[in-house]
Amino acid sequence: MTYVALTIAGSDSGGGAGIQADLKTFQELGTFGTSALTAVTAQNTLGVHAVQPIGTDIVIAQIEAVLHDFTVGAAKTGMLFSAEIIEAVADTLDRHERIPLVIDPVMIAKGGASLLQETAIAALKEHLIPMAALLTPNIPEAEVLTGITILSMKDMENAANRLLRMGAGAVLLKGGHRIDITDAEDLFMSADDECFLMRSRRIKTKDTHGTGCTFAAAITAELAKGVPMREAVVTAKHFIHAAIEDGIYLGNGHGPTNHAA
Ligand code: PLP
Repeated sequence: MTYVALTIAGSDSGGGAGIQADLKTFQELGTFGTSALTAVTAQNTLGVHAVQPIGTDIVIAQIEAVLHDFTVGAAKTGMLFSAEIIEAVADTLDRHERIPLVIDPVMIAKGGASLLQETAIAALKEHLIPMAALLTPNIPEAEVLTGITILSMKDMENAANRLLRMGAGAVLLKGGHRIDITDAEDLFMSADDECFLMRSRRIKTKDTHGTGCTFAAAITAELAKGVPMREAVVTAKHFIHAAIEDGIYLGNGHGPTNHAA
């Protein structure tokens, strides 16, 4: 049996994040990767040098082409850039049978480049988050989406609850940006009251480019294989920990996490 996963995301010419990270991760975890490109970035380990969004017609056509021909087990979204693209993606997915959807609410690259226009945040909340089987924000993204300043585990719980109230089926709030604790603590909460923490040793490295994309893609690959959500998230956490530990020293900036770890 060949399991198929779909990523709807932006291209990173440097190969460490975006569509490229997703497809490598899908492959590594035994799924056949398909893709719908939403934007092209001119990017390397030093940063994002240019961004070109793709027209909504061709975004829609790519998703339709994949969904008409393949049995897709799970899908993920990454960089969506604009409100127009978000609405096009939501409408298109809505026309098809529901598949588990992982939404990585990509906003700003590590170097500071914006990967989501300000005006698109409302569209993300209104149109896409209610379709999510799982939403995977990091702390800065959860702060933007909820308006809550996150300094503690209690704040993380409040933010996750608010995101659940926006309609996501589950939230994985990644705690790696918290600097007050030595471990990285990720909080999982679902609409049906499942709640658990995943703790991992923080790894000292600058080669973490594409970590968020790779983590969400790993969860999507597991879901595409029919693995239940909790198990998919835990497996993906082990995968991303190993990928960061095994980051690749490439280029002159932030090297990529190793999708083959
Ligand atoms: N470029 C694209 C196309 C992305 O989708 C992402 C992921 O979120 C990034 C860059 C950001 O990568 P990072 O912040 O890990 O460097």
